[in-house]
Amino acid sequence: MCTVCGQPFYPNKYHPNQEVCSAAQCQKERQLQNQKTWRNHNPQYFRYKDRQTEWEKKRANYLANWRQKHRDYFKQYRLKRKQKADLDLGKSSEG
Ligand SMILES: [Zn+2]
Repeated sequence: MCTVCGQPFYPNKYHPNQEVCSAAQCQKERQLQNQKTWRNHNPQYFRYKDRQTEWEKKRANYLANWRQKHRDYFKQYRLKRKQKADLDLGKSSEG
């Protein structure tokens, strides 16, 4: 009997201990259950991953702040250069 839908089924001859029928919905459910079981058995894996993403988040934040700061600086710099270029251009066209 399928543990998901409760319907009787014939287990695969290669998997005589099969507990879920071959219906797509039941197979999906079985995969979800497998993932949960795997997670319960491997808590370290996810703790490690969490720490990584936390670190990555901090780094991404830092980079974003850095870019924000320096973008203003470069904007000013470019603006000044443009103003100077415009001035130079104005001079030459006068001539
Ligand atoms: Zn089923």
